[in-house]
Amino acid sequence: MRTKIVAGNWKMNKNLEETETLLTELSAKLPDTDAEVIVAPTFVNLAAAKESLDSSIIQVAAQNMHYAENGAYTGEISADMLLNIEVDIVILGHSERRSLFGESDGLLNKKVKAALGKGMKVIFCFGEELEDRKSDNHFSVVEHQLKNGLFDLDAKAWGSIILAYEPVWAIGTGETASPEQAQEMHAFIRKTISEAYNNSIADAVSILYGGSVKPSNAEEIFSKPDVDGGLIGGASLKGDDFVSIIKAI
Ligand code: PEP
Repeated sequence: MRTKIVAGNWKMNKNLEETETLLTELSAKLPDTDAEVIVAPTFVNLAAAKESLDSSIIQVAAQNMHYAENGAYTGEISADMLLNIEVDIVILGHSERRSLFGESDGLLNKKVKAALGKGMKVIFCFGEELEDRKSDNHFSVVEHQLKNGLFDLDAKAWGSIILAYEPVWAIGTGETASPEQAQEMHAFIRKTISEAYNNSIADAVSILYGGSVKPSNAEEIFSKPDVDGGLIGGASLKGDDFVSIIKAI
């Protein structure tokens, strides 16, 4: 049985008070679930988020980190800084980091290794652009991202990896991949991992879908056999919507 996960990426939203208010609401309304629930507030609110969550059911993740231990990297945050405030999960490779901040597969590979080297869990995001899908290159783009980002990791490292397939054309656009498109890609991802490693690693890794998941479509997407949960952007900013999505799993 794979771990089911619902993670909320709050991006550059919510000040301190709003962060605490939303976490209080989520804690109060959290349904009884076997799924892991993760929220990723901004860096400046991570420590407060950890403190305000008395329930260990909701976990806190960072949205990014640098690969270096420390040093002259103005504006950056290291793994040790995150661990120091007991944040041991990090989202890496989000399409906004890739496209707006120029993060390449090679850079992400360094970040992944740095996080894993410190014992952190990584939610690794990847997915094709609209052009790639239109030109029928979506499978090869995804394969490339996985290969260059992750496939030089040793087998053991995969126990700390969560994958998030997020077709860029579906992020924040209101357009969702159909449940069939999500399933088709997730099955392809598992096959690709199985060929690069083995069946048991491919079977064990949780693969989340991300891209305009909302209460009205979550259940159908999550019902697909290779979809193990979701990485939620916009809908994770509203307590009731996020709770409905958690219920859907
Ligand atoms: C995301 O940014 O990871 C995401 C999936 O956003 P949204 O749910 O708003 O499409």
